[in-house]
Amino acid sequence: MSEIITKISTSPIQKLDDFDQNILFLKREDLIPYSFGGNKARKALLFFEEIDKEKSDIVVTYGSGSSNHVRVVSNLCAQRGIRCIVITPEEASEPSFNSKLAELFNTEVITVPVKDVHDTIENTLTRLKEEGYKPYFIPGGGHGNIGTQAYVDCYEEIRDYEKQNNLFFDYIFFASGTGTTQAGLVVGQLKHEENRNIIGISIARPNPRGRQVVIDSIKEYLQEYPKDGISEQKLEDATVFDDKYIGDGYGKETSLETIKEVMIRYGIPLDSTYTGKAFWGMKEYVKEHGIEGKNILFIHTGGTPLFFDTLNKM
Ligand SMILES: *Cc1c(COP(=O)(O)O)cnc(C)c1O
Repeated sequence: MSEIITKISTSPIQKLDDFDQNILFLKREDLIPYSFGGNKARKALLFFEEIDKEKSDIVVTYGSGSSNHVRVVSNLCAQRGIRCIVITPEEASEPSFNSKLAELFNTEVITVPVKDVHDTIENTLTRLKEEGYKPYFIPGGGHGNIGTQAYVDCYEEIRDYEKQNNLFFDYIFFASGTGTTQAGLVVGQLKHEENRNIIGISIARPNPRGRQVVIDSIKEYLQEYPKDGISEQKLEDATVFDDKYIGDGYGKETSLETIKEVMIRYGIPLDSTYTGKAFWGMKEYVKEHGIEGKNILFIHTGGTPLFFDTLNKM
């Protein structure tokens, strides 16, 4: 058997072209070389460092039928020959390329109404322990300080690129969901006291809750890894979570156009749940705020199998 991947190599940053009077760069997290990459791969690889250390023999996690997180975690379990149990809300369990992949990895899926998810997770973990297993629970989406750490690390990669290329990204955009990707990036920025705009484009959650979840993740991380000089005010100011581009039927059409455009022009796949929406949101944001003459970095957070689900609908 080939060697198990435990450490990721860094993902490339690519200069695209001029973009509404700005210069656009892409950080290709979708090219992290494991299971179609993406931010869930970056996070999961850190969780599995712990799983390997603790010699856990079964992984329990949570996610929908189309979840990138579930795909990556299932793959990492199958690679190790350990069982993987996924609790899925029946309200979001339609088949997708990600769920087909999870099937391929022999993942055991327990589908329950969303209101029963919490208890099902608790009961499953209790039962497994009684049966003599050593289960490890990964929160949905790779939430928590380990997931945040993954994007503190990513921020360092971005800084390394800047130093090597003698430039500075004034803006960083990406699809923001459960918030740990954004939390990690903001922590990185606060640690280095850098003055740039980190803009999470909400793909689902409205404010104020959406932004609050990011702030809570940052605080939780700073509790475990304290850092002097980060005031409440600085933290608040640095956390921009824009819920204007979540999109209804109309937004969906618009992001489909964006997805087609980006595939044709750059040969890069986006999807309608995350990256297509965020890329479109970024374009709108840049226009609405009259941003010009800046270096803009878009983090491509992955989800390549979802591109094919989107293609099926085009
Ligand atoms: C999960 C996901 C996100 C959102 O990441 P969070 O850390 O939950 O905010 C963005 N893009 C893709 C492709 C994802 O799978």
